[in-house]
Formats: sequence, structure tokens, C-alpha cells
Amino acid sequence: MTSLPLHSIGVEKLRGVGPLLSAKLQKLGLYTIQDLLFHLPLRYIDRTKITAIGGVQPLTEVVIEGEVRGSDVVFGRRRSLVCRVQDHSGLITLRFFHFNQAQQQGLQPGTKVRCFGEVRRGKSGLEMYHPEYQLLNQSQPPALAETLTPIYPATEGVTQQRIRDLCGQALKLLEQQGIEDWMPAALNNGSSNYCLVDALHLLHNPPPGTALNLLAEGEHPAQQRLASEELVAHHLSLLRLRQKIQHQAAPALLPNQSATERFLAQLPFTLTGAQQRVTNEISADISQPIPMLRLIQGDVGSGKTVVAALGAVQAVANGMQAALMAPTEILAEQHRVNFESWLAPLGIRIAWLTGKFKGKGREVQLAAIADGSAQIVIGTHALFQEAVAFHNLGLTIIDEQHRFGVHQRLALRKKGAVIDAQIDEEGYGEASTPHQLIMTATPIPRTLAMSAYADLDCSVIDELPPGRKPIETVVLNDLRRNDVIERVRASCQDGRQAYWVCTLIEESDVLEAQAAEATAQELQLLLSELSIGLIHGRLKPKEKVQIMQAFKAGEINLLVATTVIEIGVDVPNASLMIIENSERLGLSQLHQLRGRVGRGTQSSHCVLLYSAPLSGNGAARLKIMRETNDGFKIAEKDLEIRGPGEVLGTRQTGDMQFRIADLQRDAHLLPEVKRMAIMLLQDYTDNVDPLIGRWLGHSEQYGQA
Ligand code: ADP
Ligand code: MG
Repeated sequence: MTSLPLHSIGVEKLRGVGPLLSAKLQKLGLYTIQDLLFHLPLRYIDRTKITAIGGVQPLTEVVIEGEVRGSDVVFGRRRSLVCRVQDHSGLITLRFFHFNQAQQQGLQPGTKVRCFGEVRRGKSGLEMYHPEYQLLNQSQPPALAETLTPIYPATEGVTQQRIRDLCGQALKLLEQQGIEDWMPAALNNGSSNYCLVDALHLLHNPPPGTALNLLAEGEHPAQQRLASEELVAHHLSLLRLRQKIQHQAAPALLPNQSATERFLAQLPFTLTGAQQRVTNEISADISQPIPMLRLIQGDVGSGKTVVAALGAVQAVANGMQAALMAPTEILAEQHRVNFESWLAPLGIRIAWLTGKFKGKGREVQLAAIADGSAQIVIGTHALFQEAVAFHNLGLTIIDEQHRFGVHQRLALRKKGAVIDAQIDEEGYGEASTPHQLIMTATPIPRTLAMSAYADLDCSVIDELPPGRKPIETVVLNDLRRNDVIERVRASCQDGRQAYWVCTLIEESDVLEAQAAEATAQELQLLLSELSIGLIHGRLKPKEKVQIMQAFKAGEINLLVATTVIEIGVDVPNASLMIIENSERLGLSQLHQLRGRVGRGTQSSHCVLLYSAPLSGNGAARLKIMRETNDGFKIAEKDLEIRGPGEVLGTRQTGDMQFRIADLQRDAHLLPEVKRMAIMLLQDYTDNVDPLIGRWLGHSEQYGQA
């Protein structure tokens, strides 16, 4: 009888797995034997040898053996059982906060024990809290572990012991019938010659003597072998998604010189070289009958909006609609104002749609979108969340501004597909997929961009409009708050405007709004001659928009704000930015906030207030902010300090979470990963699906357009 391949055998075929356990395993994404084999340990502990007590290091996990010298119940802040254990080389203290009579009696002086646990430096020298322990019965010392003990990702009701047992059974099956290696040997450039089966065996059961330090760092060749395969699988999932989309038809939106020239003629500035270059890239893309998938990266203030507008003009000149989606109402409104001033002279009509916008006005907008009398539609994600019927959508622009993670981006594409279906139903010929342009204000470090955005072509606006002066940043203890207030006064008396940003640790709109209100009141008392505005997330969208308009019109001198102004807001006359408790914010957020100033021609300043004492990380972040204005450099540092999940803003959604790879640690693998993924897609098409399934099988978002 030929046996089924391991990806077709369900976990319930293993000894001890009933429906209950099987359901729990599903929570871990474990459906098949193959899933178990690729459920890799998070780390390992070494229970293969006994460490002499004199030689243990704090913050390591060790096995020790010795004789109990003394055992007392101590009444400190908490009652605890304290036991001193000695071997030939030294003495260590065991401490138990939860213990019962039997334990206390078992650990009498003279008893021999073997303990396992983490060693810390405590009051009485080296200590172990709640170690696992066994009393040693001279006649038969229990055997030590033969291999390093793996610690697996687990879940409630599935113990480590259980997972180890199941993986052990899976490894037996692996030994019996092997497993397909989807990475063709021909593609390997020789950097790792670990074979798949050996790598799996080693990682589940590292033999004694395996370099624990390499394993801990993820740098063991077996790990690197699998990490690179995992990265290839992720890369492929994005490339395949791209391929699927690009198999669909898109409208060829041909360049239209006269429309473009008329647009440029009435702009109050000329494009920078970088804007020109990116505009050309977009223009060339959308003139093809293949959906464009392009990301524009550009530092804050680099002028992405006008580039997007040029794309929209080209769509409209071809008789098609363009939609622009912004992550917040404030930003959507700002885009609307800009687009109207740029496009009304060309006779282009703009519709406006947000979630909060209801009633008759909304009906009118929806009708204009449906009958095509509105050529451009601007709004928040309400644009895609609801069944908005477009007349003929040719281009979608997402001002992503770092707010949308990879998954959300993919979800939006699905929404895009809904739009296509509607187009089809309503009889506008062949279903066609709109071109897609995504703008992000947060530069993404190259290594990350390569893997997180493998499905997108990337354009970079790497030049700021002329005349911008670098923002000068100072870092001040908030004991100097009064000096800062005087500075605000002087600056506003000079006719310029300022932002004052309040931050809170808790993610609470209410508390943040209260803090901002209190600050605004306090500042109004001290700066009574100034007009002070207040904006926070609890205001109605309409109120927010009114306040931003008043600030833009110069009617407000000082705008007290929560971090809602982080994104996109553009008021060139504002040249002073104060950020309170700046030590609490991440680098990219600080950079975004700071980017609200330095947009005009006068020199701008940013004051980062902090309350002492600063943590090491906090101090490091503020130092970087003082040293550079370059968003790309800041992004690289952010990656170093916070790791890829945070930098991509995807940690909560569980995005880009790898079983074994680590984008930062394994960055050196990425060029090779990219090469292998492309080769697989070209020459080994049949391997692609099984490979993706093996590593990402149950995370549906990937690979499904
Ligand atoms: P971001 O890239 O951060 O979205 P914006 O598109 O909001 O930047 O542009 C920032 C500011 O720079 C806006 O006031 C915009 O009108 C202005 N701007 C854009 N391009 C140029 C240019 N080539 N010359 C001068 N000002 C420009
Ligand atoms: Mg912008």
C-alpha cells in the first residue's frame, strides 16, 4: 500500500489525538502531519547536562544537582519556602512562593535534589524561583535528556509535553516515508547544503553538542536553510498574487499631453526631478492594459499628492474615473481641497464620500459616481467598504500613509474586485481591474520593502521641493516648559504658526482628548493674546475639518492637538512643532509629526519635550531625531530598535510573522530569496503551490487575489 504524503494525513491519525485535541491543534494552524513538522520550536533549553553550582551564570536555564543544606519558611512581603542547595563547587538558593506541606517536608536537609530553572541574582546571591525539581533516590539517578529540549509555540490546553510527543510521532513518519523537497537543488547556489529532512530532524531534536548559541541566534545552518525556504514561500505568495492580478485586463490609459500640460500650467510650482521621474513611471504603467501595482515611497513633504493627481488626470483624460482613498477624514478633506483647486480649472468634477457623510448630500454624490458625472472620487475607506457603484473606475489611489498593513492592503484589493464585478454586471463590457497606486509616507527600509511589498513596483520620490530648510530639532527636559511657551509666543507674534502635540501612554481617545483639552486651557491662560485651537479624535469629523481650515487660513495661531494630526496635514506657514512626552513615541511617528513643519520657506523648529528619567531606548530615539531629518535613515534605525513587525505597523494583525525567519537577522538571505522565488515561478511552476501551502497554508489572506 502506498502511503499518503504527509501533507494529506490529518493530525487525528496520530496516537492520542481525539476531536478535542484536534480542534485545539487547529488553533495553532496544525491540521496535518506536515504542519507539525513545520511547527518549529521557538527556542531550546539544555537539560542534557548538570552544571556545577559554582559555574552557573545568572539569567541562564540550567540543571543543577546538590544536597539540601537548610530549608526555612520565611515571612517577608510574601511567605516563601527558602532552600539552600550545595554541591562540591558552591551554594544556591531555591525560592518557592507556592508550596505545600509535602514539598516542605520533602526538601529536608540532607536530601539530594536535581533542579531545573532559570538562575537569577537575588538577595542571597544566586537564586532559582520555582525550579522544577526531583528528589534523588541514590539507587537510581534518573536519566538526563538526550537532546536539547525544544520549546514550541503552544496554546491553552496543549502542553509542551504533548506537542513534543506529537512532533516525535510526526518525525517517525518522516523517517519512514520522507517528504518532498520543493526547493530544486539546481537553484541552490551552495550557500546551504543542509537537506530538508536533516534540517527538520535537527531542529525538533537537536543532538547534545549542537551549538546552542547558534540555535538561540537562529544562525544554525539548519535554521538558515529553513528560514530561506520560508522567505521564498512568502515571497512567492506575493509574487503569485501579483501574477494573478496582472493576468486580469486593465484599461489602457494613454498619456494625454494637452491635459497634462494644462494641469501643470496652473500649478503654483514646477515638479521636482524626482516627481517628474515618478510621474513618468506611473504614466507608462497605466498606459498598458495590465493593472499597475505601484507603491510610491516619499518622505513627508516630498510632494506625493500632486504626482497622484497627475495619474488621476491621465485616467480622466481617457474617459475613466479615478478614486483616491485617505486613511482619515482630515486628510481626505485636505486632498479634496487640493484636488479641487488643481482640477476645477480643467473642468474635472470631484465627488466626496466618507462614512459620516449621510443623507441627501450623499445620495447626490453616489448618483454622480454611478452615472460618471463625477470623474474623481475622494474619500476615506468608506469608498471601498460599501457597495459604491462606479461608472468606470480606471485608477485607485490609496494614500496609505503607513496606516494600512499588508493584510488590509490585500483586503482592499478584494474590495476592488467587488467594484469590478459591479462594472461587469452593469454591462460596461469586459470586467477590468483598475490600476492601483499606493502612497506611503513612511519610508520602508529596503530589506523590508523587498519582502513586504514584493507584489508592488516601487517608485521613490527622493528629493524635497526646493527652498525647504531642514527642520532644526532640540530635545528638552519638560522642566523647561516655560521657556518653550515663550518661544511659541515669539514665533506666533512673528506671524508664524505652531503645533503643540499632547501624547499619552494609553491608547485612549477619551484620556488623550482630556489631556489635550487641559493643555489647551493652560496654554490659553499663559498665551492669552494668541488664538488657540484644539483638535483631537473625539471631535466630529466636521469640527475637525473646520478647525483645520481655520488653522490653514491663519485664524488660529497655535493648534493644540493629539496625534490625530500625525498624518498628511499640510499647513506651510506652521514652522514650530512642540511634542510633549516625545520619549513615548516611536521614531516613525515622531518623524511624521515633525514633518508637519518645514513645509514652507522659513526655517522650522521642532522641540521634543521629555520627562526625565529617559530610558536607554527613549534617549536613543530622541538622539536620532536630533541628528537627522532623513526619513529613510530614521526608518533603518527604527527597524534596528523595534523590529520589522512594528515598523510595518502590522504587529497586531499578526502580519509578516514567520515561523523561523526573521527579516532583520536574515536580511542577508533576501537577494538570494528573491532570485530563487523568481526562478521557481518561471521554471518550477508546479512547486509553487505546494511550497506556499507548506509554509503559509492556513493563512488565507496570502496568495488569494
Ligand atoms: P506628501 O508627500 O507628504 O504627501 P504633499 O503632497 O502634501 O507631501 O506636499 C507637501 C507640500 O509641498 C504641499 O504644500 C505641496 O503643494 C507642496 N509641493 C509639492 N510639490 C512641490 C514642488 N515641486 N515645489 C514646491 N512645492 C511643492
Ligand atoms: Mg501626503
